[in-house]
Amino acid sequence: MTPQPHPEAGAAVKAADRAHVFHSWSAQELIDPLAVAGAEGSYFWDYDGRRYLDFSSGLVYTNIGYQHPKVVAAIQEQAAHLTTFAPAFAIEARSEAARLIAERTPGDLDKIFFTNGGADAVEHAVRMARLHTGRPKVLSAYRSYHGGTQQAVNVTGDPRRWASDTGAAGVVHFWAPFLYRSRFYAETEEQECARALEHLETTIAFEGPGTIAAIVLETIPGTAGIMVPPPGYLAGVREICDQHGIVFVLDEVMAGFGRTGEWFAADLSGVVPDLMTFAKGVNSGYVPLGGVAISGAIAETFARRPYPGGLTYSGHPLACAAAVATLRVMAEEGVVDHARRLGEDVVAPALHELAERHPSIGEVRGVGMFWALELVRNRETREPLVPYNATGEANAPMAAFGAAAKKHGLWPFINMNRTHVVPPCNVSEAELKEGLAALDAALLVADEYTV
Ligand code: PLP
Repeated sequence: MTPQPHPEAGAAVKAADRAHVFHSWSAQELIDPLAVAGAEGSYFWDYDGRRYLDFSSGLVYTNIGYQHPKVVAAIQEQAAHLTTFAPAFAIEARSEAARLIAERTPGDLDKIFFTNGGADAVEHAVRMARLHTGRPKVLSAYRSYHGGTQQAVNVTGDPRRWASDTGAAGVVHFWAPFLYRSRFYAETEEQECARALEHLETTIAFEGPGTIAAIVLETIPGTAGIMVPPPGYLAGVREICDQHGIVFVLDEVMAGFGRTGEWFAADLSGVVPDLMTFAKGVNSGYVPLGGVAISGAIAETFARRPYPGGLTYSGHPLACAAAVATLRVMAEEGVVDHARRLGEDVVAPALHELAERHPSIGEVRGVGMFWALELVRNRETREPLVPYNATGEANAPMAAFGAAAKKHGLWPFINMNRTHVVPPCNVSEAELKEGLAALDAALLVADEYTV
């Protein structure tokens, strides 16, 4: 329901926030968080009654939009029946959520370890891989994001790890494929795939295959720029892992649960990892939930030997009830097919058409409801609209672009020199077109910074 404008209430919320809330990834006195009065479907409202179309899906998690009545009702029913119960017990919401997730995960990823979100899912996947193999090292890609906790941020390859990276022993980064920024080494996706696989094999050879527990990759790197890997890359990594007994971990925290127009991005290539991390879309982020889907072989390692790890709220009934309802809604409403169809029929042609008219668009990438525009100062040199190794802080061109988008009622997802088009997977065609028109208008501002 559209909230009534109430600027005084908004001012009070904002004042308390500024006085007491310590925000993530932020210099506390340099931020100006919007006070939000309510949200429904693909929209949210501020206290002045201004409406925003959410092309960011929160932090790319409201895959079925805000306040879906069936999920809200399921949370209410679970709260009335059994609000909480410790993880050592068998609880209907938890076992049903695990069953439904296992039914959708590829291959034999049939055992589900629940966490509170994505970072702790990555923490546990790394721990499982180390215990399963008895090896210490983990390989992960530059241009990746795996979470803000200690191990997850060390595995992360984007500049946000710089400040918190203690250089944890055993984490080695490598270059995954990204043709747009590899052009001195490769001209085609095929060449880029071969380059990246060869580079990975060389990295493994120099690190020592027998020392490597896991390769951790986002199936499609999300926060770092939605680089859909070239055909054959993930299958190649799978082969390399098999050859050396390395655990292949695919991080589907952002790409999973319909975002790519498949249940999981791994389904696009048919590659089955040994461990798969998930969170966000599993219950549209209504209650914190994440997890690791575990293969038969790794589950077997812990069949008669305790797994040394756990969380008080693992498989929290409210979060699991939300997951059960979300997964049912997605099936009943055909959300996954909808995301694929609108991605192909509406988003892809519209973004490519925008790229023809806006000199600030260097590249359009994506699939389903998972797209990025790489904004550049110069199309020839591909110079980003911010320096490439920037730490993602506000900068004039991207800040001006973001402000223009908001003025047109569009809430964008901006990271470094990119704006991502990641609306809820059940966004309507009319909403999408409204958002794309606002994006078109905002890009005129980005164009002003091109040379
Ligand atoms: N892994 C990926 C691929 C992500 O995109 C994120 C968050 O954006 C995480 C892990 C961390 O998830 P969380 O913020 O729930 O800890």
